[in-house]
Amino acid sequence: MSEQHEQPLDPQFPLHDDSLVVQGAPARHNEYGAIMAPIFLSTTYRLEDINTAGPYEYIRTENPTRQKAEQVVARIDHARYALGFSSGMAAIATTFEHFHPGDHIISSANIYGGTYRFFLDILGPRQVDYDFVTDLSTLSDADFKSNTKAVYLETPANPTLRVYDIAKIAKLAHKHGALLIVDNTFLTGYLQKPLSLGADVVVYSATKFYGGHADLCAGFITLNDKALHDELFFYQNTLGATISPFDSYTLLRGVRTLSVRLDRQIENVKAVIPALEKHPAVQQVLYPGWYSPEEAAIQKKQAKGPGAVISFSVKPGVDLGVFFEKLQMVDLAVSLGGVESLVCRPTTMTHAPYPKDKLEEIGVHDNLVRFAVGIENKDDIIHDISQALTLAQNSDVVLDKKVDIQ
Ligand SMILES: *Cc1c(COP(=O)(O)O)cnc(C)c1O
Repeated sequence: MSEQHEQPLDPQFPLHDDSLVVQGAPARHNEYGAIMAPIFLSTTYRLEDINTAGPYEYIRTENPTRQKAEQVVARIDHARYALGFSSGMAAIATTFEHFHPGDHIISSANIYGGTYRFFLDILGPRQVDYDFVTDLSTLSDADFKSNTKAVYLETPANPTLRVYDIAKIAKLAHKHGALLIVDNTFLTGYLQKPLSLGADVVVYSATKFYGGHADLCAGFITLNDKALHDELFFYQNTLGATISPFDSYTLLRGVRTLSVRLDRQIENVKAVIPALEKHPAVQQVLYPGWYSPEEAAIQKKQAKGPGAVISFSVKPGVDLGVFFEKLQMVDLAVSLGGVESLVCRPTTMTHAPYPKDKLEEIGVHDNLVRFAVGIENKDDIIHDISQALTLAQNSDVVLDKKVDIQ
């Protein structure tokens, strides 16, 4: 494997996070002095002679544009390594190649619907044993078995925004010889660095905040351990779900504004939460730290900000069909992390793979709306959501057309 896969930070010149997102993978040292990394579409590279390959051989194994994308994502996480994939699910699926029949994994029950489905329909039939823990803050020695190989979690969790203590859970996992894997999609390395808190592997859907413009599908793994990196690099190359050169380029463009986007989104979130809490149609607003003062303290300790995804439940009698129909600017769509504000209903959309009773168990009901807050003017966002909620409260409203939110 080529040396170029190692991306140590230069300790002589540490950059702040808002510099790293812009300068984490400078395109210097290319032939023309281009400031933006070129897109290398070539699938194959000439050998120097019959016994000597150059730095690149074949697109699936190594690609210069992909390496730039991997480098910036690694640096933002203060990680030694990053591996780029064609989607967040590809990054997650490739991570789970590490586990074998007879292994046991503890997972938070409160995770992305597609990851939940992966446990149910892929790991289960492969005889990788797992337990879903409804509230990971209660995780204790008793939950670990002699064959427990990993703990898997998201914090803040999707879509309940529950917060779990990464450092504490990492310690507990390590005591039992298990890895801690964290899906850090909701905050990104700009706001939370799980590896620095003790996690062993971090996975991302870069389709969300890293790309930031709802126009690319990609995923990443970041980690520090060389042996585990070499193993996952082998699976990346062998299974082949790698990020394309074009998506790598789009990511490199998007990630440059990660800090300004998130700073603005957080400013908007901080205005939207009190506006929602005041609205008579709203029952409860969920954001990192809503659950308890303890979780608020953990969030403050381990992350630089709340991120840009919140949820809210509506009171009985409020018609969500009308709410979604009457929105003028904010769109009804899955996904998050783009510049535009989006709302969705997890039970019938992102979390449809869950059995209904499991969703009830983690507190996700049909009256819950997930809200990915964008970078628009905050007054426009608040005005749009408020007027649609007011109409949804009034049962006399007749819809222009039937809304099917499946
Ligand atoms: C979207 C998402 C994923 C899956 O990523 P894709 O890029 O859609 O494959 C995984 N985890 C979380 C938290 C997500 O939001």
